[in-house]
Amino acid sequence: MIPLVDLKTEYKVLKDEINQVIGEVLESGSFILGSKGNKLEEEISNYIGVAHGLGVANGTDALLLSLEALNIGYGDEVITTPFTFFATAEVIARVGATPVFVDIDPLTFNMSPALIEHAITERTKAIIVVHLFGQSADMDAIMEISRKHNLRVIEDACQSIGAAFQGKKVGSFGDVGCFSFFPSKNLGAYGDAGMIVTNDSELDCKIKSLRNHGSCQRYVHTHIGLNSRLDEIQAAILCIKLKRLDKWNERRRELAAKYTRRLTGIVDVPIVAADREHVFHQYCIRTIQREELAQFLQQKQIASGIYYPIPLHLQQAFDQLGYKNGDFPISESTAQNILALPINPMMTDKQQEQIISAIVEFFGDKA
Ligand SMILES: *Cc1c(COP(=O)(O)O)cnc(C)c1O
Repeated sequence: MIPLVDLKTEYKVLKDEINQVIGEVLESGSFILGSKGNKLEEEISNYIGVAHGLGVANGTDALLLSLEALNIGYGDEVITTPFTFFATAEVIARVGATPVFVDIDPLTFNMSPALIEHAITERTKAIIVVHLFGQSADMDAIMEISRKHNLRVIEDACQSIGAAFQGKKVGSFGDVGCFSFFPSKNLGAYGDAGMIVTNDSELDCKIKSLRNHGSCQRYVHTHIGLNSRLDEIQAAILCIKLKRLDKWNERRRELAAKYTRRLTGIVDVPIVAADREHVFHQYCIRTIQREELAQFLQQKQIASGIYYPIPLHLQQAFDQLGYKNGDFPISESTAQNILALPINPMMTDKQQEQIISAIVEFFGDKA
């Protein structure tokens, strides 16, 4: 089977180095918020080009803590996209605020800036912009709207570490940037982990406290926080993988370029918008024969994935928001015809050839 992600092969490549640092952490006896975590925070903030990095337990908590640090809660509205992983909007509801969705751009799958202003009310406090599948949203337009209407901007960059807009890395535009190191992300831990980055020293200070029970000084609690810390084993593993991230993202781009060359005219291939450096967390094609193609690939031992089959405004969990089918037509049609092909840095040219041949064969038979 050609898998979507291939963490086993990746581990084989890194095994000696990884095993060694895990051993070091075990020997050190320091497991939470120690030197490895500090090192990762410094390296990631340098990599993104921001002042502060804050390790947290996962990407969802990164978003949640960001909303809390920005005092967003009951009575507030937060604008976001319905075409993303559930967590993006889940955290808005979790802090007691209301998610307000706007539809996506059909070419980039990212929130359509032209639709944002129609959704702004006197209750709107923030925008959570998602850089989906590895591509930056239109940050020029989004930052301009946020300045004009005095809105905070949280970047959900969970799928896009290393991606850039006009040469500037995602995560460095908004008040805060949120990253996930879920194992299958472009930079993945061997368990859950996440990070918040910011240039704002006050937010940095507040999040440091919030992630640790609202406490910066032991047994002195200034806020109601939670336990959301990055552990030393994950931090050590991530430091090793971070050294390879640019090379791995480059390999993803190379694979994507080949898919695009060979599949153009056969299926709708993903578009890289102007001024953007895509990191291809996913390579998503669109075809009205999505189900048949996925089944055909499955028979050929090729995995594929659907991200995402149900837009968030149609999720049962958001029934109370009162949205209905037809509210966001681009998100709805995309959910019906999108299909992710295997793309990961460990994929061989031969595997990719097999995938491309299978797709060409499928559409050849239908022609
Ligand atoms: C993965 C992901 C998250 C959540 O990250 P976790 O680390 O799994 O909590 C949030 N938003 C997006 C867009 C994601 O892809």
